[in-house]
Amino acid sequence: MVSVVKDQAFVTLATNDVYCQGALVLCQSLRHHKTTRQIVALFTPQVSSNMRRALERLFDEVVEVNVLDSGDSAHLALLSRPELGVTFTKIHCWCLTQYSKCVFMDADTLVCNNIDDLFEREELSAAPDPGWPDCFNSGVFVYRPSLETYNQLLKFATENGSFDGGDQGLLNSFFSDWSTADIYKHLPFIYNLSAIAIYSYLPAFKQFGSSLKVFHFLGPTKPWHHKYDAQTKGVIQENMSPSDSLFIDFLNLWWDIYATCIWPLLVEYKAADTKMIEYQMPEAGDLQVKMRRQEETVAHEKPIKPAEILETQGHPQSTEKREKITAGPSMSSKRETEMMPSDTPGPSISPPHQEDVAASFADLSLEVEPTQSEKERRRWEEGNADYLGKDAFVNIQRKLDRFLK
Ligand code: UDP
Ligand code: MN
Repeated sequence: MVSVVKDQAFVTLATNDVYCQGALVLCQSLRHHKTTRQIVALFTPQVSSNMRRALERLFDEVVEVNVLDSGDSAHLALLSRPELGVTFTKIHCWCLTQYSKCVFMDADTLVCNNIDDLFEREELSAAPDPGWPDCFNSGVFVYRPSLETYNQLLKFATENGSFDGGDQGLLNSFFSDWSTADIYKHLPFIYNLSAIAIYSYLPAFKQFGSSLKVFHFLGPTKPWHHKYDAQTKGVIQENMSPSDSLFIDFLNLWWDIYATCIWPLLVEYKAADTKMIEYQMPEAGDLQVKMRRQEETVAHEKPIKPAEILETQGHPQSTEKREKITAGPSMSSKRETEMMPSDTPGPSISPPHQEDVAASFADLSLEVEPTQSEKERRRWEEGNADYLGKDAFVNIQRKLDRFLK
């Protein structure tokens, strides 16, 4: 039996309902790869109460952070550096002193293989940034929670700011010997790989990408900004070319987890915002009807039980009561107001795109899934997808594994 390690944790952050969706997909991907560590979400008061309940359902621990409401040093620091909003929120991960070691992961990362070996590394271990490899990318890093380090980081941020306005600039200045002191603190690129690597050095991606551990949807366009066709079970490839096929595979993997495991959970907790979908896709005439039908089916007729889905995927504690701990601080941020929940499309159903998607699929290096039978498709549309069988996450994962091998 695999023993659970209680004093080490993966930690992520979401300051609004939009990023929460990424956090949930990340959490599910860690569970799928059978992590033995705890999984923790930091969230801020802007996150809706229903979404919090969904987080509590999937994560081992959820921690509210709210700089603005606290009278502590973070609050004071923020008053003098209001532009460092999300950055200050992220460094609250050092306050999780109930854990001896943690791995922070951005909410836009996706785990593709077990990464528990990261806990053998020391603070601060991270992978090089693809844009400036002498800096580390702060989307995935190993650290040791410590209130002393937290206060030093706050002080440093207040006095020096951040050269890029975000957490990455701050952390690179603070841990300034990362690039020279200890090569063991350089995580291999496969622990934080982004699309930039595919586009800038494809032969290396082909050579080394087969042992990929974490894919990072770095940059302004996140998986949730794409539209998903629930019939073909693929991202709608607007403004994408065949050369984007590898990246599309990763987008599809993210969306497959979202549609299969997270969307039913959000519907159950009434955190799936159907208004948001209507707003985003007014042209998809029958979309809202279909989504509502799915919601009604799930909520009233034949409930989908996320617990069952999770249990089949090796969730070590899916039936245990989860603990919620309310800790310190956070604040609102510029990015939050830029990215209101209405920014996010839900799974979409758009029959006119079906042939286009099928044609694009022919260009993919990934093996194409056989077209679903009418009967299966109808079941999917009615919200009765075969979550424990053909549509199970494990089958989706197999698709990526085939590509990687
Ligand atoms: N984040 C958040 N709300 C925001 C912006 C960022 O919760 O409005 C968190 C989230 O965990 C996110 C991380 O901060 O993954 C870093 O931001 P992002 O991933 O957007 O930056 P990038 O990796 O693209 O530079
Ligand atoms: Mn990121």
